[in-house]
Amino acid sequence: MNNINKIRGIMFDMDNTLLKSHIDFQSMKLEIAGFFMENGLLPETFPIAEHTASTIIEHVKLKGVSKKLYETAMKIAVDHEVRGMEGAGLEPGALGLLQALVKKYVLVIVTNNSFQAASQALQITGIKSNFDLIVGREQMQAMKPSPSGYLAAKQHFSSVKSDEWISVGDSWIDGRASMDAGIPFISYGRSGLLMEEKGIRTVAHINDLMQLLDYV
Ligand SMILES: [Mg+2]
Repeated sequence: MNNINKIRGIMFDMDNTLLKSHIDFQSMKLEIAGFFMENGLLPETFPIAEHTASTIIEHVKLKGVSKKLYETAMKIAVDHEVRGMEGAGLEPGALGLLQALVKKYVLVIVTNNSFQAASQALQITGIKSNFDLIVGREQMQAMKPSPSGYLAAKQHFSSVKSDEWISVGDSWIDGRASMDAGIPFISYGRSGLLMEEKGIRTVAHINDLMQLLDYV
């Protein structure tokens, strides 16, 4: 593609980009929001539909939350993640794509999942060894849509220039975080409309992971 520079590094979102996890993100979000509401940290009128679990947690964190309540909310997230990772499989084309890219590009995972849950899922599905770095939420200052995970990865591989990275993800939060980290974003899967609503600029959209090879 003419508008993409020579790519040397690729940052992948994990859930529903490379892995087909069974994490019920909707229930996770509702349970976390309910927990914060019960504890008076979130008003009943909070626009839950416009948020993800991670943006709700970041919102409450900014307003000020005790360590104990924060940790309880994170525990709710981890429980959903662990359950959802049981029997996680690969997205179609993930294996072929990684085989084509490994050792030719710096490959990074940037996920809002806990590092441990992500490592386990990548291990179980047999793709962990393809990655040069895994950035989980403990390695970020704030979760996506904050760019901090992507910025941490950029900093880690300082020999790869800003415009030599590309990012791939299925959710608008991946797009927002990538844009704010100065990394061109390719959207994957079916969330096109929400991407548009959230003002996410993509350099391309792919429905099949192997199509990424056209852009690197
Ligand atoms: Mg995802």
